[in-house]
Amino acid sequence: MGDDLSIDQDPGLPMETIRGIPVSSGIVIGRVFRLGEAEQRVPHRRIESGEVDREIERMETAFEEAIADLEALRDRTRVQLGAEPAKIFEFHVGLLRDPSLRKPIRTRIETDLVVAEWAVADEFRAVADRFAAMGNEVFAQKTADIIDLDRRVLDRLMGENTSRLATLEEPVIIVAHELTPSQTAGMDRTKVLGFATDLGGRTSHVSIVAKAVDIPAVVGCQRISRIAENGDLVIVDGDGGTVILDPTDEILADYRARQTRVTSYRAELRRSAGLEAITVDGSSISLLGNIEFPDEIPSVLDNGGAGVGLYRTEFLYLTSGHEPSEDDHYQAYRTAISHLGGRPLTIRTQDLGADKYTQTQAEEPERNPFLGCRSIRYSLLHLPEFKTQLRAILRAAAAGPVKVMFPLVSTVMEIRQAKMLLADVAEELDEEGVERGRDVSIGMMVEVPSAALMARAFSSEVDFFSIGTNDLIQYTLAVDRGNERVANLYTGASPAVIQLVKNVVRAARRREIEVSLCGELAGEPIYTMLLLGLGLRTLSMVPTQIPLIKTVIRAVTIDHCERIARKVGTFDSERQVLNYLRDELRKIDPGSPGGWTAD
Ligand code: PEP
Ligand code: MG
Repeated sequence: MGDDLSIDQDPGLPMETIRGIPVSSGIVIGRVFRLGEAEQRVPHRRIESGEVDREIERMETAFEEAIADLEALRDRTRVQLGAEPAKIFEFHVGLLRDPSLRKPIRTRIETDLVVAEWAVADEFRAVADRFAAMGNEVFAQKTADIIDLDRRVLDRLMGENTSRLATLEEPVIIVAHELTPSQTAGMDRTKVLGFATDLGGRTSHVSIVAKAVDIPAVVGCQRISRIAENGDLVIVDGDGGTVILDPTDEILADYRARQTRVTSYRAELRRSAGLEAITVDGSSISLLGNIEFPDEIPSVLDNGGAGVGLYRTEFLYLTSGHEPSEDDHYQAYRTAISHLGGRPLTIRTQDLGADKYTQTQAEEPERNPFLGCRSIRYSLLHLPEFKTQLRAILRAAAAGPVKVMFPLVSTVMEIRQAKMLLADVAEELDEEGVERGRDVSIGMMVEVPSAALMARAFSSEVDFFSIGTNDLIQYTLAVDRGNERVANLYTGASPAVIQLVKNVVRAARRREIEVSLCGELAGEPIYTMLLLGLGLRTLSMVPTQIPLIKTVIRAVTIDHCERIARKVGTFDSERQVLNYLRDELRKIDPGSPGGWTAD
């Protein structure tokens, strides 16, 4: 639901305008690079026996090139995002070097007389099927890696590819049917200007990562991957949610001008990052950053964040391709603590499952993964894995202020069990004489309606609440947060969601425990006044949004925000809420280009 940009299509020109969901701010103009289609075009051609050597050589070269691409990617990721995210590429290099993978492909070319592409595709598929059939979690997880590598080698063989991305002369705009969160995390910002995908929603994890790495993006474009051709000129407007293929000269000039305005406005906002987050009437608001990797912390601080309100630790798992050891966890948390220099770090325990643990990796694919074994439920069923993480958190807490937070809690029993495990782990560490933090606050995400409704009961179990509106919206409204087809129904302006947020804040205040909000709403200026009016004083968001939210805070009074919250409480439709909040925001908007991004 971005602002309507009113771009009409000129019937005389091939320009095409597609509306999607704006998920990562900024306007980019560049050439299309289509991803993920190689596997659909594998040539099934037979060869003469005299061509065998040539095909084997092509296959070997493709493997070596894919390995070189992966090594380059590993090195770049290590520099840009740190050692942990780089490990997945190390692991992939190891798989491609394994001779037992190449041998049957060679045999297949020699005996069946087929082109290298055909032999590669069939062999990788067979290996993936074998892993998947083993019913063992570790092997099932390898299935996804094999599919990924299959594409890489095929891309190299077919000359047009994901790996070509690494050798591009000019930066491009990626167009794909769908991207994964880890693909997005691995993007080289000097090569990728932005992206547009058919699938995805405002708070799907790929969108969250796009914001974290600051790549302008529009998702949910439904058919963009079918109509865009490699090399087409395209505009991606990550604020308005528009993708324009083959723009006219006039539209191009218009967007270039907007681009300049947006860039200078963002630079101006960044200059105010160091100012205090304080309302006109003197209330101090704590603005924190959401991170996926410790290396994002410098961006939190540069943008004026006072600490980390949500560290999504599952990305340690998702990008390493294996279960992190206690030391892997510990090193990551220690890095985060040292970047923060005494500022608070809220570590959320692994939130695996649903879209953050693909169904090909799951032990058994679930029919309704978002309602299945995800988050705390998964952790409580995998106790050794869970305890490994808890040990590392407690150990790291000896080095700085750490809070621990459990995701997707839906029953009081779950939080009691999680607390009991944490106490067990603390006792174990003490018995072993291992140093640990002694002052670790325990909190829970409130992101399921049952927890929000029963917030009063939960408030006596924890030291703090953090409201996760991304999930709270989807579970309250029964709308998949990643499904573009129902994206129009997914909104934080829902009176039902607002009621739940209000209930949680009230329960926290009554018991005098801390409450914050770390869903994407925290970083959307249209909601800032409402959230302050509902009583929130701590907001945690994607780091790049902090200066903008700070600017809003510095222009309002709490009294005014409370009046807004009371008025919103009288509305019964999200349309009314949105229109009202948009009008109120416009009154204080100091003239940003095109207005502040709206819901
Ligand atoms: C949320 O659900 O609001 C949240 C912050 O968690 P995540 O987006 O990681 O599910
Ligand atoms: Mg969540």
